[in-house]
Amino acid sequence: MVRVIALANQKGGVGKTTTALNIAAGLLKNGQKVLLIDLDPQSNATSGAGVDKKEINFDAYDVLISNRSVKSAILKRTDNFDILPSSPELAGAEIELTKKKNRQMILKRKIAQEKENYDFVIIDNPPALGLLSLNSLMAADSVLIPVQAEYFALEGLAQLKKTIDLVKEHGNLGLTIEGILMTMTTHTKISRQVVAEVEKHFPEETYSITIPRNVRLTEAPSFGQSIFDFAGFSSGARAYNKLVKEIISKDGTEESEPS
Ligand code: ADP
Ligand code: MG
Repeated sequence: MVRVIALANQKGGVGKTTTALNIAAGLLKNGQKVLLIDLDPQSNATSGAGVDKKEINFDAYDVLISNRSVKSAILKRTDNFDILPSSPELAGAEIELTKKKNRQMILKRKIAQEKENYDFVIIDNPPALGLLSLNSLMAADSVLIPVQAEYFALEGLAQLKKTIDLVKEHGNLGLTIEGILMTMTTHTKISRQVVAEVEKHFPEETYSITIPRNVRLTEAPSFGQSIFDFAGFSSGARAYNKLVKEIISKDGTEESEPS
């Protein structure tokens, strides 16, 4: 069974793209078949995965706006890794989609056609709760929420949870929170306080694994590489490796096997 995981947080700069790229790479490393969908018009996941703009014929915009299939738009990176790239045009899709019937369900329908081809579909989202993010929440089995360990970390989380509840009410009943992931943590007092505060508010959802601030994670995408290829022994690689193991081990069994 394919698992569709959406990275979401309407705040920018919290680690959505970094996490999308590195969990996609980590899942691959663990033998999983992965489709990475870049739904952010800024295209950071696309370029961070090493895709050259010149390689792109079709992108997520074409899939959402026309009757083009995901299959006919993807770029094959390796046997087990496909990417549906983004383009700046996607910014316009927010508006163009408003004219469409069932506009929030388009991505779900398009992904459903490809479900047997992948173990995981990872969707990177723009820093907004517009129609692009809504499409991915409707298409997703779970949401992974990166939260930067900084002042105001909790701000916006309540709104995001409200959006998730609305999505559950209006068409995606089974949507779960994969986890809240504290990112860019440091050994400072404030960082520890923020992590503790988020854990206090969301004890069930918050991962015990945190992603430390690590400059290697910033450098890797400019070489089109994951942290595992770029700096496999870095603190960032170790943390993302643990996260990937945790994601794979969950595998939908947690509900049926109370521990
Ligand atoms: P988002 O997609 O939520 O906007 P990004 O993943 O692009 O966030 O991260 C924002 C910036 O922070 C980027 O420059 C990225 O390289 C950097 N960054 C993300 N995670 C870390 C980390 N754990 N340590 C250091 N820098 C990070
Ligand atoms: Mg991003």
